[in-house]
Amino acid sequence: MKDSFGRNISYLRLSITDRCNLRCLYCMPTEGIEHRQHDEILRYDEMLRIVAAATTLGIRKVRVTGGEPLVRKGVIGFLQQLAALEGIEEIALTTNGILLADYAQALCDTGVKRLNISLDSLNPSTFKEITRGGDLSRVLAGIDKAEQIGMKIKLNMVAMRGVNDHELLDFAALSTDHPWSVRFIEYMPTIREQHWQQRIISGADILALLHTHYQLQPLTTDLLCGPARPYRITGAAGTIGIITPMSEHFCGSCNRIRVTSTGQAKSCLMSNEVTDLRSLLGVRQRTALIDTLKKVICGKPEHHRLGTDPDSTTPFSMASIGG
Ligand code: SAM
Ligand code: SF4
Repeated sequence: MKDSFGRNISYLRLSITDRCNLRCLYCMPTEGIEHRQHDEILRYDEMLRIVAAATTLGIRKVRVTGGEPLVRKGVIGFLQQLAALEGIEEIALTTNGILLADYAQALCDTGVKRLNISLDSLNPSTFKEITRGGDLSRVLAGIDKAEQIGMKIKLNMVAMRGVNDHELLDFAALSTDHPWSVRFIEYMPTIREQHWQQRIISGADILALLHTHYQLQPLTTDLLCGPARPYRITGAAGTIGIITPMSEHFCGSCNRIRVTSTGQAKSCLMSNEVTDLRSLLGVRQRTALIDTLKKVICGKPEHHRLGTDPDSTTPFSMASIGG
């Protein structure tokens, strides 16, 4: 259905857990986040009820995220049930890749053909530093496995000045040999870590750097590109995308809503407003659930102001919402 600014909302990002096997420095504070109690997290059947209700309003694509979605027990069975829901045309998953080598085949068998893998460094020690302890070789093994079995891969790299900006060209080079979409994302000060201003590199600066080494052809955007501005290095097998939530928001074409693992709906990642769906999950409350989701869509703000006024958003961890 259309929101009040005429945007067609067809995409739901569903976080199935707030737990994670990494603690990326831009996503969580050093001490990690306070996890919700198990009984606060929705059961899978409750999540399916929400998605089924959302399909009646035109949701066609679901992205399963977290925390780290692959750490939740039963995720494969859940994805099978999700894929069987009438109205769902596409299921995608966002993962940090740590458990991917073990899960890739099962994921592919459920019908998940598109993976977004978050990877911010190709250097084992920088990777360890960014993720506070992660093992890069496991992610690389997961990517290999997913590629072998023919899954479509997008790599998401959060570009941070002084942390991994020296690797921008190496990441871009990955798109020359592999049919991957390598996407550079502007760092967002969601947890407001100290000196966050120094971390930011704008999409324009990233692009300028890439232009110094590569001939980049702009590609036409289609709906599958989402918020990324796509390019191709001349002759490359894959593509490059620049995602600029800070310097140039893409709210005008935003087609998504979010639901957290505790059943809170959010019409905008950056909005402080949440709508509780948990109390509407009874068998006889389907109409109320659909009406509430409708209100969430209608109440979607025209745009966020993170780039111009970071304090308009209360600090939060992406792990608790799903990114
Ligand atoms: N754990 C999974 C992963 O990392 O792919 C899924 C959840 S994670 C919260 C989803 C995405 O949010 C990741 O691609 C991550 O890089 C991104 N993210 C988290 N915090 C961010 C920040 N401060 N700025 C930009 N992207 C961020
Ligand atoms: Fe975990 Fe993903 Fe957040 Fe990293 S970005 S801490 S992998 S939820």
